[in-house]
Amino acid sequence: MTRPNRFTNVTRIGPVQVGTHHDGRGRTKHTAACTAPGCNFSADYLNRAAAELAARTHRCNP
Ligand SMILES: [Zn+2]
Repeated sequence: MTRPNRFTNVTRIGPVQVGTHHDGRGRTKHTAACTAPGCNFSADYLNRAAAELAARTHRCNP
């Protein structure tokens, strides 16, 4: 998987990485993306707390 290099403030919660980035239109987005093999979970959130909560509660698909 390619990882955008403009992510900032990246943290890892379990297999999920949470990063903050700007969408190019002046808005800040928070993305949670799972790095586990075979798991394609990735989602954008409007705030950091939501992204981190999603990361904490994420369970990989079997
Ligand atoms: Zn996963």
